Amino acid sequence: MTTILEPQITKTTHGDRALVSDGYYAPAVPQDAKPLVLRVETKRDEQIVSVIGRRRRVAFGAIRDGAFVPHRIKATSEYWEPHIRAAESVVRNPDAAAKRYAKVTGNCWRCGRVLTDPASIRAAIGPDCAKAVGMEQRLTASRAEIAKNGTARAASPA
Ligand SMILES: [Zn+2]
Repeated sequence: MTTILEPQITKTTHGDRALVSDGYYAPAVPQDAKPLVLRVETKRDEQIVSVIGRRRRVAFGAIRDGAFVPHRIKATSEYWEPHIRAAESVVRNPDAAAKRYAKVTGNCWRCGRVLTDPASIRAAIGPDCAKAVGMEQRLTASRAEIAKNGTARAASPA
């Protein structure tokens, strides 16, 4: 059993694995490795995982039955190995990878739009998306936390 300290991005599980919501993820990578931004998107009943490159995105696998399954031709490729590991990391802990995406990019993990409100940045999600996925509680908690502790930016005297 896990202790949930705050509303989680992943609310349900598939067997012992988390279900990954569609969105953007930046899983932690080894220090010398290139940071990766992954997009999870449901297309025709399949959850496709793509890597967002500078010019385009390339799909390299799908999430099936709670596990990442790389496309066959990429499964044995040395080039795709870090991507596959990153996707597996997203499946293991989508919450951490979603938060990391928002932290690194300043964008909402669900839609990729720029976040401007400190509470949204802290919650990793914008108000529209929070509403759409029933995560308003997370945003409210984040707002309360900021009101209590302040942020570096909100530290100006009243
Ligand atoms: Zn959003």
